[in-house]
Amino acid sequence: MSATARAAVIEDVAGAVDIREYEVPRPGPGRFVLRVELCGMCGTDAHIYRGRLASVAFPALLGHEIVGRIAALGDGVTTDHAGTPVSVGDRVGVFPALSCGRCFECQVRGRPGRCPDRAPSYGFASPANRPPYLTGGFATHLYASNPGTVFYRTELPPEVAVLQEPLSVALHGLDRARVRIGSTVVVQGVGAIGLMAVAAARTAGAARVVAVGGPRARLDLARALGADTLVDLDGHPDAATRKAAVLAAVGADGGDAVIGTAGSPAAFAEAVGLVAEGGTLAELGNFTDRGGIDLNPFTHLVKRDITIAGVYGAGPDMRRRYHAALALLTRGGLPYGEVVSHRVPLGQVGAALAALDGGYSLDGRDIVKLAVDPGA
Ligand SMILES: [Zn+2]
Ligand SMILES: [Zn+2]
Repeated sequence: MSATARAAVIEDVAGAVDIREYEVPRPGPGRFVLRVELCGMCGTDAHIYRGRLASVAFPALLGHEIVGRIAALGDGVTTDHAGTPVSVGDRVGVFPALSCGRCFECQVRGRPGRCPDRAPSYGFASPANRPPYLTGGFATHLYASNPGTVFYRTELPPEVAVLQEPLSVALHGLDRARVRIGSTVVVQGVGAIGLMAVAAARTAGAARVVAVGGPRARLDLARALGADTLVDLDGHPDAATRKAAVLAAVGADGGDAVIGTAGSPAAFAEAVGLVAEGGTLAELGNFTDRGGIDLNPFTHLVKRDITIAGVYGAGPDMRRRYHAALALLTRGGLPYGEVVSHRVPLGQVGAALAALDGGYSLDGRDIVKLAVDPGA
């Protein structure tokens, strides 16, 4: 193979995004090369762009929500994670992280994220000026250079398959919030993760799903994905009116489960106040350090017997979450295909990253979910 790959590389923190060219590698044993069809862009990418994730070195090739077609298979790669045979041309979703599965953290503590032998995750990996180079999804090709990379074959259209990662995070959050059949669920924030939480809560049999957020396009989608009540930030500009609207919708002192995805300390404080006595807040937002809040242990927690659960990504059971997410997306029944609002070419990656950190608008339209389309 002597084809050329193109990749949108961020040269430095908040710096220029250049299109670099690389030779498409021939995959070694246990590895494979993917022709990227679509790669989701999320708030984490925007944080990395601004230098808020110290572990990522620049120049950086990001993109961890990766869907594509297998371009070349190394020796020994014959099936996906579920045991389905794969061949060149098949569409697959790639799992970005890979831990050893044998060490104390992996096997005994069940915390693969702390595995000392963890391979560099795609989209967060080694700098783009060192081999194996093509380790992020904002490129025409991905080199799945970690032997044993977990991936799943799928027939879903790319704009649906690309939701596998955000949905897996939402599923972890719903589990942590102990959502059950008949629960009242309040989803705070209607970005991609919030929307996936709405869909998952609906699928899980929630009695009432309340979505709090904006702008309008996202709320309309939340409705289509299963929200019964929408609390619009424009119509409810302060925390007190939002709380009143939520309580009116759930008919109690709060939600049985509150899923926090808004991602600011102030929003987290507000979410604590939306939990019913005995209920649970699962906080999925605040994925980077943006400061703290005033929390009264007696009035906020003890007296109201509530639980607060921190939710870091798809959690320690990532593979199971990914598998479940793909199964739900495959089952369908909800308008998942409408969540990706913008497909941007490689040349627009810089503008897209800036938009995610700014007004959440691109090409004159509100962003729901961005995805990079390297073939565009
Ligand atoms: Zn993401
Ligand atoms: Zn390990």
